[in-house]
Amino acid sequence: MPVPSLSSRSSATAKLYLCFDGRVTASFSGGGPYTSPAYGDAGDSDKVTAIWRMVANWYRIFNLDVTTVDPAAGDDNDNISTTVAIGGTSAGVGAGGAYGTSLNGSFYNISKNAAFVYSDSIEANFSDALELIAVAIAHEAGHGFGLQHHTSVSGSIMEGVNAATLFGYGTWGWRNAGGQDDFAVIGGANNAFYYADPDGTLFHPDAS
Ligand SMILES: [Zn+2]
Repeated sequence: MPVPSLSSRSSATAKLYLCFDGRVTASFSGGGPYTSPAYGDAGDSDKVTAIWRMVANWYRIFNLDVTTVDPAAGDDNDNISTTVAIGGTSAGVGAGGAYGTSLNGSFYNISKNAAFVYSDSIEANFSDALELIAVAIAHEAGHGFGLQHHTSVSGSIMEGVNAATLFGYGTWGWRNAGGQDDFAVIGGANNAFYYADPDGTLFHPDAS
């Protein structure tokens, strides 16, 4: 079964592409090409949809389309698109990091607009892997939108990666703490999509 075509805000110009079916990234952080295998359950539309829905929900107040449809804009289309490849382990990509890899500000700066989430590694170590894969996607994309780690708050999507707890546990969300307001950074001038629905009430994920 192919990966379902999902789009949280298809009218938005800015795209966060969740790639579940494998991808070759020509270059990344001075290395490559890197081949990301498909997400192990890419054929399970319920799981793919559940992961997408969690990520889309966290980004719902921004004028950003969280989508499983390849925007076909390449990896270096600053302020327009970025890709998170979900699958495999860090060994497959070779870019370091146990559960994910990203380059800070890559959505708008010279770094490759790409990130990786190593779903096989997450599944091997956590029983609630579905939710943690979604958190990891939001986290690595957050780096791409310019966010640094929060080190002093728990339950944050941007909590520093800890091998034992993976982003901590609690109520996932964006935080304003330690000198970083996550909402302000993501919705700030570096990124091109700003806010859409500040209270999120107009969010209607549409699947096609
Ligand atoms: Zn991180």
